[in-house]
Amino acid sequence: MAQQRRTLIAGNWKMNGSLSANSGLLGDLLAASIESASEVLVCVPSVYLAQCDALLAKTSIAFGAQDVSAHQSGAYTGEVSPAMLADFSCKYVIVGHSERRAYHHESNELVAQKSLQALRSNICPIVCVGETLEQREAGKTNEVVVTQLQAVMDVLDDGALARIVVAYEPVWAIGTGKTATPEMAQEVHAVLRKTLAERSAFAAEKVRILYGGSMKPDNAKELLVMPDIDGGLIGGAALKAVDFLAIIAAA
Ligand code: PGA
Repeated sequence: MAQQRRTLIAGNWKMNGSLSANSGLLGDLLAASIESASEVLVCVPSVYLAQCDALLAKTSIAFGAQDVSAHQSGAYTGEVSPAMLADFSCKYVIVGHSERRAYHHESNELVAQKSLQALRSNICPIVCVGETLEQREAGKTNEVVVTQLQAVMDVLDDGALARIVVAYEPVWAIGTGKTATPEMAQEVHAVLRKTLAERSAFAAEKVRILYGGSMKPDNAKELLVMPDIDGGLIGGAALKAVDFLAIIAAA
């Protein structure tokens, strides 16, 4: 089944970078002339989309944003609409990252609206789901991630659902150096796949489910060989060209 889904290796730069640092990092990635069967993506702060558009057009590296408004235009000071992202040839946007859920109080319903609006502008939402350590220890992991995914499924028709990407990111593994074991991650990915399948077998087969949370060159391979892990959402290791390239090579 996994062979039908193209592996996606996505960097999440978070709030890091500068014009000069970005051109250095992207220059190093481009110089490596990546020859991979995987799709390679960098998700950058929105102010750098124009730079990515200039540097990455017609290359094998795609780029995306890290957040988007749930509205298409209007009086929403500080927000960036999906159509604006599309103006810069942006193909993907991360929605519902745990840092936004935690620090900006984004609800499942808001994340669902962002996903819906992104798709309307032909931008693929990378929908992040994941449990906190407390929730895992209380045995609530599956319930939490299924509720988060279900909210998005509720606003999408089957065709739209088949176009999303899901990222399972256990909150306790993000930026901590603690990774879920491949077996732990696979178990949750399988639950997410089953949730999709209960709604649409086609979507379950199409949707790529990425793992995120301290994915590094030395653990990428064992995670990426799991049958329901279709790629990675990589934070810290995406900021160093050697590490990001090593993860791409492991895929
Ligand atoms: P990390 O971040 O790889 O630094 O743990 C992943 C993420 O938050 O997307």
